[in-house]
Amino acid sequence: MDNKLMLMIPGPTPVPESVLLALAKHPIGHRSGEFGTIMAEVTAGLKWLHQTENDVLILTASGTGAMEAGIINFLSPGDRVLVGTNGKFGDRWAQLAEGFGLNVERVTAEWGKALDPEDFRTRLEADTAKDIKAVIVTHSETSTGVLNDLETINRHVKAHGALIIVDAVTSLGATNVPIDEWGLDVVASGSQKGFMLPPGLGFVAVGPKAWEAYATAKIPRFYLDLGKYRKDAAKNTTPFTPPVNMFFALQVALKMMQAEGLENIFARHHRQMNATRAAMKALGLPLFAADGTSSPAITAVAPVGVESEKIRSVMKKKFDIALAGGQDDLKGKIFRVGHLGFVCDRDILTAVGALEATLIELGYDGVTPGAGVAAAAKILNETA
Ligand SMILES: *Cc1c(COP(=O)(O)O)cnc(C)c1O
Repeated sequence: MDNKLMLMIPGPTPVPESVLLALAKHPIGHRSGEFGTIMAEVTAGLKWLHQTENDVLILTASGTGAMEAGIINFLSPGDRVLVGTNGKFGDRWAQLAEGFGLNVERVTAEWGKALDPEDFRTRLEADTAKDIKAVIVTHSETSTGVLNDLETINRHVKAHGALIIVDAVTSLGATNVPIDEWGLDVVASGSQKGFMLPPGLGFVAVGPKAWEAYATAKIPRFYLDLGKYRKDAAKNTTPFTPPVNMFFALQVALKMMQAEGLENIFARHHRQMNATRAAMKALGLPLFAADGTSSPAITAVAPVGVESEKIRSVMKKKFDIALAGGQDDLKGKIFRVGHLGFVCDRDILTAVGALEATLIELGYDGVTPGAGVAAAAKILNETA
């Protein structure tokens, strides 16, 4: 049916009507006083969302652009960096760092498993010469639905003294990432994930230790030179023409988030993660990430006896619900249910109910009709 698409993928995520309407306004000049007022307001809102007093810079870029900025501004070719790789995004940051001439060492875990903080501790403690300049970690590994233990990994990084550069693209606005309390140096995210916005803006939070490194960093940079963004943010503008309508939208989305409150936003994501996982278990569908290591943004499911791609196809054709598939080696092996951003409990019940109908249609015999909805509803009722 037209206009009924329900996005249950880990980005782009659903967008509230008030945010969509803000996008429809006439653009304004980005050097105008009116834009300056909006820039000041959204910057304050972003600091609130990031739980930081330091800089949060706004880029016209996707999440990858924000991560690229977060890496190239603080390092020099040949610098030794540790990169956590347990999925598609960790791999991407290792490749990106290699592309810029960094000396990359991977700290790996099998896809579907969390990174072991001890692996970071061992490598960092062995580096008595302090050659390791930065540790790059993906907090929520969207490709597998695993949440890495950023807090513990960061403690080991702090003990060593290297910079920590975090991909928080699907954890920011979904779970607690207290940037200043933990002392995270660089944290990148993107508008189409937890922000309830369309794609188009990237965000990078930068702390004082990272700015020190910026002063001597030698990887070439121009459009993504964060110093330019910082200097102009102080004057409530941006170095280059920003998508001004996205700023109108960001202003509305941040107001909605502030009205809900950080604690409530995090609780909602955790409740919906638990409800989704309970439903999958009740339907006999194996979860790809173990309990205790799962992402509050995305649930990956590895069905046995029924094909992931068939499930996705029926869900889309019959119910207008978009689920994500697997990436790289996981293509065809898993499907992923996004519950990130503008998602309410009703959406979870709808998706689970449609999934049950899909499984029945596909002749999957593990399903007890109603079991998934009952399990999800139980969690949603207990914790709402
Ligand atoms: C979506 C995502 C990104 C950014 O991808 P873009 O397509 O560049 O926006 C980065 N990291 C993670 C973990 C993601 O989920």
